[in-house]
Parts: sequence; structure tokens; C-alpha cells
Amino acid sequence: MPIRCEIVSQDRSLFEGDVDIVVIPGTDGEMGILPNHAPLLSTIRMGIVRVRRAGEEQLFTITGGLVEVQPTIVTILADAAENVEEIDIARAEDAKRKAEQRLKEGVPADSEAYLAAEAALHRSTLRLDMARRYGRTRKRPLETRSSE
Ligand code: ATP
Repeated sequence: MPIRCEIVSQDRSLFEGDVDIVVIPGTDGEMGILPNHAPLLSTIRMGIVRVRRAGEEQLFTITGGLVEVQPTIVTILADAAENVEEIDIARAEDAKRKAEQRLKEGVPADSEAYLAAEAALHRSTLRLDMARRYGRTRKRPLETRSSE
């Protein structure tokens, strides 16, 4: 018997379907959610959500959020999330460059601007790492990766 999985971000629905297992980066560690799991509400940290169905796996980068588990359904409410296949590498590189630039500009370490740039750097680094490891474009020639 499968479990229903829904992944929704602030701006769209990313996934809806019956799956065998959902693996989530919970704030207390990785959680594997199988059918008939006990009810649970947890925060999610930045990382990768894995959805497995009939031996096939789909991966989603998630910047944080909440998960609600019921025995027949897992609902993931993401701050922002992407299927790794759809990550735009050029956009993530640009976001990373801009965040690094802002951090170098010498804003106070506890200011809002610094924290925002640091969070943007973490998001873009996650997207780049995962897109390169698992995304469609992972076969890019090595020389185009040398500056990161
Ligand atoms: P950017 O500066 O490029 O907008 P960001 O980290 O500020 O990046 P978010 O606010 O986290 O972006 O996300 C806004 C929306 O854009 C979300 O729907 C997110 O899934 C999507 N998104 C962000 N970066 C990428 C990317 N590199 N490829 C595909 N979608 C992305």
C-alpha cells in the first residue's frame, strides 16, 4: 500500500502522487516516511527531499519548511523547492555570485543584510551542488565548473 505525497511551495505545487517512501531532511535528522507512519508535525531544514515510487526516485531541493504526516498522506509545505531536474544552474550561479559579493562588502555580521546574503548563499550553493550531482546538466564539461 503506498502513501500519498504532496509537495507544495509558497508559489506552486511541485508534486502530488502515491509513493512508497518519502525521505525528508528533518531538523533532528533524516526521516524516512513509509505508509502507516504515526502522525507527525515537524520542521524541515534546507536539503533534499527524496520521493521513491516503484524503484524510481525524484529529488527536490528544499530551502526549509514544514511536514505534516498522517498514516495515508505526507504534506510538505516548502519555503521554496525545486525538482533537481528543473534547477537553472546559471541563475543559481548568479545568485551565489551576488550573495558572495554582498558578504564581501563588509556589512555588519549580525545585520539583516548579512543574514539575508548568507541565506541566499546557502540556497544557491545547495541548488548548484544538487543540480550538478543529480540534475539534467550534470554532464557539463569540467572546465566550465572551474570557477566555483
Ligand atoms: P534568485 O536570487 O535566483 O531569485 P533565491 O534564492 O532568492 O534565488 P528563492 O526566493 O529561494 O530564490 O525562490 C523563488 C522561486 O524561484 C522559487 O519558486 C524557487 O523554487 C525558484 N528558484 C530559485 N532559484 C532557482 C533556480 N536556480 N532554478 C530554478 N528555480 C529556482
